[in-house]
Amino acid sequence: MKTSILSLLSAGLLLAGCGQKGVKSDKLVIATSFYPMYLATANIADGVPGVQVVNITRPTTGCLHDYQLSPEELKNLSQASIFVVNGAGMESFFQKAVDQMPNLKIIEASAGVPLVKGDGETGDNPHVWVSVSGAMQQVNNIAAGLIKHDPEHAPQYRANADKYLARLDSLRVKMLRELKPAAGRDIITFHEAFPYFAQEFGLKIAAVIEREPGSEPSAAELAQTIKLVRQKKIKALFAEPQYPAKAAQSIARETGAKVFILDPVSTGPMEDLDYYITAMEKNLEVLREALR
Ligand SMILES: [Zn+2]
Repeated sequence: MKTSILSLLSAGLLLAGCGQKGVKSDKLVIATSFYPMYLATANIADGVPGVQVVNITRPTTGCLHDYQLSPEELKNLSQASIFVVNGAGMESFFQKAVDQMPNLKIIEASAGVPLVKGDGETGDNPHVWVSVSGAMQQVNNIAAGLIKHDPEHAPQYRANADKYLARLDSLRVKMLRELKPAAGRDIITFHEAFPYFAQEFGLKIAAVIEREPGSEPSAAELAQTIKLVRQKKIKALFAEPQYPAKAAQSIARETGAKVFILDPVSTGPMEDLDYYITAMEKNLEVLREALR
């Protein structure tokens, strides 16, 4: 493992400057691990001269739970000076590869955020950005890290971050106000992405059907959830745009509950820097409709 990573790294060094896809070597390259980190970092670095933000995984990758970087992704990462990660266990499957890059400066977006317990590698739930205040803490951490590692552009990073934080804060206040009538309601989700979101808006997660994408619920788990939905008279099930809603639909068929889509913003368009806010506004509409 060690030697293969080292040889990939030296291959990456040899290729630097050859105009490799996605990475321009004459710029300060800030790599991000996956879409939510890209979105926050690209907002903070927006318009800063000489800086390129590169998301090393595809924008459709979604959560990185057991994700291993491909040789090409490692190569792109090896050309970056700064790497913005979510932390809280989200990137633990490629931590070893990152450890082989001693010059890479790591910014951990979730540093200092009180974590909810989860069944990830580190025992924490890493979906910090899914609550708006969590996303704001991450923006603050990323901005502080960029200012530390690239002090030349500090005023621009700070100004961009403050502008973005103000917008996120209005979003948070609006969502708190409009979701107040739904406080205390039980919701059922299909991936462990929503505890921070639920905490922020006073919702209760009665059950998580599929703990993580790819782990299909067993027949017994499905039967148990169907019982719970009937008992608690749950009217709405929340699936995600990133994953098939098969289990949700079979529960809906059995119980008459409706399936709604809630977006944890783990994927999205690269060019739309407002996408977090747009997606959360949509989540707000969905929840108001579902929890009426
Ligand atoms: Zn996840």
